[in-house]
Amino acid sequence: MRKIEHIGIAVKNLETSNLLFEKLFGQPPYKEEEVANEGVKTSFFMNGPNKIELLEATNPESPIAKFIDKKGEGIHHIAFDVEDINQEIARLKNEGFIILNETPKKGADNKLVAFLHPKGTNGVLIELCQEIK
Ligand code: ZN
Repeated sequence: MRKIEHIGIAVKNLETSNLLFEKLFGQPPYKEEEVANEGVKTSFFMNGPNKIELLEATNPESPIAKFIDKKGEGIHHIAFDVEDINQEIARLKNEGFIILNETPKKGADNKLVAFLHPKGTNGVLIELCQEIK
């Protein structure tokens, strides 16, 4: 695993939160993208070298809707940049981590992604992401 690629924040209303984070960072999101198969709308901010992803649920079955029902808005996941996602999945599985999707899927912002179950990581949802070249 390399650097933190981004931090994901679950929000109830992307439009309102975009304005809030625009005020915080002094610049608007550089990208908005819907990931239909995950039931989310996302936006991405750069602040210096740091990337923040905001996520809003697009349906009540979305993992983001369930997260907000249970915990409210807030930090949802930490994403780490990986060189080879399949190799990293195999390594972490071998270490006993629970991988939510062993086959990487297409995430937002041109990434292949896989998630580790928070049960195995002290309650923190970890996303692995590999840039699609
Ligand atoms: Zn993410």
